[in-house]
Amino acid sequence: MNSAPYNKIFLDMDGVLTDFMNHCMNYLNIPEETYFEQGVWDTTPAMAKALGISTKEFWNALNHHFWATMPQTWFANELLRAVYESVGPNNVRILSAPACDESAKGKLMWLEHQLPELYNNKQYHLTHLKEDMAHPNHVLIDDRDKNILAWQKAGGIGLLVPTKYNSRHKEAILQGWLPEFLKEVKSRSTSW
Ligand SMILES: [Mg+2]
Repeated sequence: MNSAPYNKIFLDMDGVLTDFMNHCMNYLNIPEETYFEQGVWDTTPAMAKALGISTKEFWNALNHHFWATMPQTWFANELLRAVYESVGPNNVRILSAPACDESAKGKLMWLEHQLPELYNNKQYHLTHLKEDMAHPNHVLIDDRDKNILAWQKAGGIGLLVPTKYNSRHKEAILQGWLPEFLKEVKSRSTSW
């Protein structure tokens, strides 16, 4: 008897594996007291305002070095371990939308350094059209509501990571969501 086939798991980078927000705060010296509205995805206008620059200038300030030196999120290691255990490293893909050419360049450097097992096998896709990869056996782990909804609409399985900047912000602030989330990842790792 064949065992159940494994699904493929697609992992987002910013906000899931990499801590974009904290890196911005530190790299650009954004004042700690900067106000961010809970549940609002785009934090860049507030950060740009705090620095007294336009959002265009804000994005221009993020060169490939910024993207290549991104710290991991506090839960990245545990999430990666659960994902690898659930479907095996061969069934894991990185799926990230680069903000610009500098972002794409830096993200590849980050992957080469931090996740060589995926980088060396070219198990990554840098694209804004994430939902093109959606399939009934494909799980997307992402922190953006819009991406998860588009993925689900296209027939894939979407799991939204709670953050202060999406619809699960209350769970993110209460913390303690990770064990349940990892259970969900494991339960979605086979197709039936
Ligand atoms: Mg993200």
